[in-house]
Amino acid sequence: MDIEQFRKADYQAIDRICDYYYSLQERSVISTVEPGYLRKHIPLSPPGEGEDFQVIADDYQKYIMPGLTHWQHPSFFAYFPTACTFEGILGDLYASSTANPGFNWSSSPACTELEAIVMDWAGDLLGLSSAFSNQAGVGGGVLQTTASDSALVVVVAARALYMRDHPDAKLEDLVMYTTTQTHSLGSKAALVLGLQVRSIEVKLDHGFALREDALRDALESDAKIGRKPFILIATVGSTSSGAIDNLADIRKVAEDYPSLWVHVDAAWAGVALSCPEYRCELYLDDINSFAHSFCTNFHKWGLVNFDCSALWVRDRKNLTNALDITPIFLRTKHGDAGTVIDYRNWHLGLGRRFRSLKLWFVLRGFGVAGFQQYIRQCIALNQKFANLVDASDELSLVTKPSLALTVFRIVPKLQEENQPSLSLDSLNDLNRVFFGRLSARHDIMLTQTSLNGIFCVRLAVGAARTNEGHIQEAYNIIIEEAKFAVQTWEQTVNGVATVG
Ligand SMILES: *Cc1c(COP(=O)(O)O)cnc(C)c1O
Repeated sequence: MDIEQFRKADYQAIDRICDYYYSLQERSVISTVEPGYLRKHIPLSPPGEGEDFQVIADDYQKYIMPGLTHWQHPSFFAYFPTACTFEGILGDLYASSTANPGFNWSSSPACTELEAIVMDWAGDLLGLSSAFSNQAGVGGGVLQTTASDSALVVVVAARALYMRDHPDAKLEDLVMYTTTQTHSLGSKAALVLGLQVRSIEVKLDHGFALREDALRDALESDAKIGRKPFILIATVGSTSSGAIDNLADIRKVAEDYPSLWVHVDAAWAGVALSCPEYRCELYLDDINSFAHSFCTNFHKWGLVNFDCSALWVRDRKNLTNALDITPIFLRTKHGDAGTVIDYRNWHLGLGRRFRSLKLWFVLRGFGVAGFQQYIRQCIALNQKFANLVDASDELSLVTKPSLALTVFRIVPKLQEENQPSLSLDSLNDLNRVFFGRLSARHDIMLTQTSLNGIFCVRLAVGAARTNEGHIQEAYNIIIEEAKFAVQTWEQTVNGVATVG
């Protein structure tokens, strides 16, 4: 393809992308293809000769589009949002156009410098203290691929720091701390690094938050048997229920355990710190005063298309001490002089995508006010949904709604005063039937979870085009399916009872 052919193909691509966005609302959210569908359409080997691009572009529409789940659909409420914006898409397009691996300052000064500046902007947006800023030169921010990569990098850094401060410690005694609600990134990091992990149990009546006593007990019992807890992954906004670990409590305990690194994983909820009214609830003061590292994904609820995981550390030397390997061909005048950031030493790979461009475009396009407005709108929409659930006869909230996430299930109101309430197992069975019905639909998408044995359904708001109408419609669908589920389930139970 030459430059003029690219111009033409690109105009067409943009036209088709616009048509896609116009048509989004009419599409089903969920793809209806069966596993292996694509093999029927795509040859087993690549073509011998190059093909005409128009044919390739048309095949994207014909074969790929039907296999897509539409995360930007206004009725997509599953997992977590991946709110995507045209500003971000354009940033990504420009970034692809230079295909720059930006691993050190010299490899493309703009890549490093823009990332350092935009990460300071993002820190400012969220209210992070200057301890984390690139400008101040001690801490700093870096864009990673995912929150899982961010956590892995931080665990590597924390391990290196611990071993430097405790040269006699044995690696096999080191233990990572998580809770039973921590994202699987904790166990994944432990698996990759061959480390032990202790998952501290958190309770429903504590809103699944880690509190002082549970943490202190774990640390004390491990100290007695010579285990060395070196990092705690705390969560602000857990994946299952939006639970927020009590960072004020954790800070109190951490004062007595100075070699425990505290990483705050706020992959989903962290962007809500952009609104001052949520900073207290999300423990911003504690993050600022003692957390060693903090991560939030702008590619979830932060209007930037995947991938854009923002990681800040209080001391950048902990990253570079753990990850700096500099063969001769990577040495540069500025790197040797220490006058520039070499981001290759702040993550696992050497090369890196030019992600700061899309974050820069989005933050400029929306401004702080626009960004806050979007976050507030999502939270208001979720509150509307939670209120509907709370007022209904069939459904009830399992936990307090968290920002833009509601976790609920069917708990039928008792028909008669003295009717015995349903057992946990029966309620779980009923809710599985309910979720089975919901997930058989194509016009809405939600996900299931289990909280300490309670089977529940999650609704996460965040697609940029979701409005009040979509929330009302979602509620109508959910309540209709809940009624059907109760009916079907009663018939089954009665049927079994008659046979018995
Ligand atoms: C989504 C999520 C993750 C995982 O994010 P990736 O960027 O896909 O690794 C981790 N922690 C929390 C709390 C999340 O919500």
